Amino acid sequence: MKTSSRREFLQLSALALAGAAVPPLHAADSAVVEPVIDIHQHTHYAGRTDAQLIRHQRVMGVTTSVLLPSGRFYGLDAQCGGNDSVAELAKKHPGQFVYFANEVADIDEAPEVIRRYVKRGAIGIGEQKFRVGCDSRWLDRICGVAEEFGVPVLMHHQHGVYNTGIENFHKTLDKFPRVNFIGHAQTWWGNVDAKHEQKELYPKGPVTPGGITDRLLADYPNIYGDHSAGSGLNFLVRDSDFAAGFLERHQDKLLYGSDCDDVLGAGPGCQGAQILLNLRKLAPNKKVERKILYENAKRLLRL
Ligand SMILES: [Zn+2]
Ligand SMILES: [Zn+2]
Repeated sequence: MKTSSRREFLQLSALALAGAAVPPLHAADSAVVEPVIDIHQHTHYAGRTDAQLIRHQRVMGVTTSVLLPSGRFYGLDAQCGGNDSVAELAKKHPGQFVYFANEVADIDEAPEVIRRYVKRGAIGIGEQKFRVGCDSRWLDRICGVAEEFGVPVLMHHQHGVYNTGIENFHKTLDKFPRVNFIGHAQTWWGNVDAKHEQKELYPKGPVTPGGITDRLLADYPNIYGDHSAGSGLNFLVRDSDFAAGFLERHQDKLLYGSDCDDVLGAGPGCQGAQILLNLRKLAPNKKVERKILYENAKRLLRL
């Protein structure tokens, strides 16, 4: 971060903490503030209003946010808004918000619903967070739509619950070589560790190299990593030496995301802000930092 943008960021953060009004941030302001793409946010997240979400993203210093809708049921287990809510907010704030399409993976109409929203302007599929296997026929149908439109699929991997069986995920990557996948959540980040205990969601301590996630990123051109949420943050802080090497190794495949539901946008109570801080600290140089915070997402999402 340049001194001028760091000062601006600190001023914004101070304003946020004081509860003051925050001026808008746009990619057009990039002469002042370096653009940042947040690939993982939600509308109505745990009851947060659109105004609070807009303010949260501005305070973090994000210029473009990707909104991930829920399917028709479950609200992604966090009361998140659906396809219409993300499409509406993006329409009101062009450039500031873009959105994915989603539907519960194992209902008959899922491919048709997703197809409809992609045709209307959704630029990806997800967050896929449903009770299916990550190499299941249900997911195959979703990937078929992704292939048809050339859009990525964002996956929430959580042991025994969502997109289960990460040890089989390579089969899906093999089956759909033209679809780009974005891996996220506890089981995705836990499996950087070759000795990962699958039941552990937020493992602590040193990482043993050679885990499933690291190997997938190295071996498959069509898989990316999403640093969002407590899981992405936990990975960055549990073994920061390993994390720094990982950022260097996979610098073209990693994406910044926040996925936090607070209204602050700064400080220790905002995971998105903490993830930004740690990525900036651990990236080996400015070039890699810019790839992870902006350029990789811009290229993958064709923004
Ligand atoms: Zn998730
Ligand atoms: Zn936050």
